[in-house]
Amino acid sequence: MATKSAEFFPQEIIRKKRDGSALSDAEIRFMVAGLTDNSISEGQIAAFAMAVFFQGMTMDERVSLTRAMVQSGQVMDWKKADLGRPVVDKHSTGGVGDKVSLMLAPIVAACGGAVPMISGRGLGHTGGTLDKLDSVPGYNTAPNPELLTKTMKQIGCAIIGQTADLAPADKRFYAIRDVTATVESIPLITASILSKKLAAGLDALVMDVKFGSGAFKEDYGEAQELARSIVTVANGAGLRTSALLTDMNEVLGRTAGNSIEVRETVDFLMGRSADPRLLKVVLALAAEMLVIAGIADEATAPHAVQGALASGTAAEKFAQMIAALGGPNDLMTNMEKHLPLAPIRHDVISPKRGIIGSMNVREMGVAVMELGGGRHKASDPIDYGVGLADIAGLGAKLGPRTPVATIFARSEEDARRVEKRILKAITLVDEAQRPAPPVRSRLTKEDL
Ligand code: URA
Repeated sequence: MATKSAEFFPQEIIRKKRDGSALSDAEIRFMVAGLTDNSISEGQIAAFAMAVFFQGMTMDERVSLTRAMVQSGQVMDWKKADLGRPVVDKHSTGGVGDKVSLMLAPIVAACGGAVPMISGRGLGHTGGTLDKLDSVPGYNTAPNPELLTKTMKQIGCAIIGQTADLAPADKRFYAIRDVTATVESIPLITASILSKKLAAGLDALVMDVKFGSGAFKEDYGEAQELARSIVTVANGAGLRTSALLTDMNEVLGRTAGNSIEVRETVDFLMGRSADPRLLKVVLALAAEMLVIAGIADEATAPHAVQGALASGTAAEKFAQMIAALGGPNDLMTNMEKHLPLAPIRHDVISPKRGIIGSMNVREMGVAVMELGGGRHKASDPIDYGVGLADIAGLGAKLGPRTPVATIFARSEEDARRVEKRILKAITLVDEAQRPAPPVRSRLTKEDL
């Protein structure tokens, strides 16, 4: 737990930051301690967040903030579990149709990594890995420590939810930022993400920083800035980390929703179908995880990943993880039974012919939310069976029989409303542009 000292006053620390000075490690620890034990008021935390929003933080301050937030709670210790494999994870800044975590955890486990993947729920237009897994009947995203350790030892991966004792300072801080327009601060995002990752006891981390119309940071330059901040601070705090910048100007893969994305994952792992852009992102992130964890080098990692997919060992790991955490034993062969979709199936056909030139991916995410598959606020319930399938990508040629997407809805009325939103989200052009690469760039510690 961070220490507090009577020599500090929150208002003086806020003033110092407001006026543009860098805070000391002790001052930052004082603020985080007060944030955690509620001795610093919500108003003071909000003012502090706004001061950081406008004045920023040096990299050293960000490291101090991250470390203090880690120390606000427990840190997982995988050494005691004697996993015999490097502990590695991937974290994404969030997107639409981003089911990559579901694929990476079993692939990397099949290649010799240990992946305790602590995932979040969706909020707003982005989906959450945890919600997707909650659509699997019986799957327990909050196993007790014994079951978690057993699963990690026997299988090598477990996708689970955040526990209350990991970086508790972030929980209060995020809630205050959320209602004071201070979420978008890069130093605060950096500390928020990394405090949870450091508390998960990782040896190495790969960040998937997304840019584009469906991403948290739309602008590529800003996404680069966020990636640079995360890679610098993580390595500064002792966590080996690199980042890939990936394109979110179209939905990732062919589906968006909850059950429907787990279905796409099962098809992908079983080798039944793989959207080419999704495949590229998965291969790149999985290879990066193997490299940063020291399991393979840049030359051998892509072969190891492809081998795990082609041999079916990644699919086996996924099936074993689902069963070990309470899900069905036959998910891979009986997914239609376990992952039912909403009854109204409606193809969205564009009244005009043309080629998709751009897509407002955020609106595609909102379409899923409008069907009931996402949340406006954290306590909202979710309908796992609704969503979008066969989503066309940029450059797709639309004709009278080629849908932009197929909607799965609870009512005709929902389907019609969402159809309008989807048609508005795309812009048609006469000639296809050159497709953008799904993985734009890579940032490692050596690039800093
Ligand atoms: N995700 C987080 O966990 N924290 C932030 O501040 C932003 C995105």
